Amino acid sequence: MLSSQMKLHRLDDHYSRELLTNIRDRETGREEFRWGLKRLGMLTGIRIAATMGYSDVEVETPLGVKARGISLTEARSVVIINILRAATPLVEGLLEVFTDARIGIVNAKRVETGNLFPEFDFKIDVPYFNAPKLTRSDTLIVADPMIASGSTSVAVLDMLLKNGRPKRIIIASVIAAPIGLERVHAHYPDADIYTVAVDEGLNEHGYIVPGLGDAGDRVSG
Ligand code: URA
Repeated sequence: MLSSQMKLHRLDDHYSRELLTNIRDRETGREEFRWGLKRLGMLTGIRIAATMGYSDVEVETPLGVKARGISLTEARSVVIINILRAATPLVEGLLEVFTDARIGIVNAKRVETGNLFPEFDFKIDVPYFNAPKLTRSDTLIVADPMIASGSTSVAVLDMLLKNGRPKRIIIASVIAAPIGLERVHAHYPDADIYTVAVDEGLNEHGYIVPGLGDAGDRVSG
């Protein structure tokens, strides 16, 4: 049972679920896998944008008539973090919505000698980190497609927040395990977590079950 305080947002529409089903399938090749992950990034971006602040604007149509609409002002201050390698297509999809986002690149690897079963408290090695400074008007979106133990998201957020504090912290994923969600929530209770599915748990190697395998390998070959 997940903490009721957790700000968890499920993409439970049929289209997102079908996309996830396709990328879970071991028969799905690299091209289709990347395409599916990118689409899910775009759909996640649309869901995030629906929670953002906007201002009312008016434009004149070719008929010479005024039409009222909105300008998504908050979407102009977005920082997206690409955690190599698996997040790249998810980031591409998010960028379809947040076209002007600043981008940070992080290479984070788990050191498999950490505490495995049952704590799955992996040490995270971050050999490359290059991210923009954060300001109080920024929405920070960390793209972490597979929230397994949650250690990667937490380690990356710990480093990012040394670069300033954003207005909002969002983690964009497609599959999450309960233990990882709880770890992220324990460290960052205000973070909004987007995912398509919450799976059963982790196997003895720390992979999400049923999951989709190693997302980095499936994206990169
Ligand atoms: N990262 C992956 O790519 N797959 C998992 O199942 C867990 C972490």
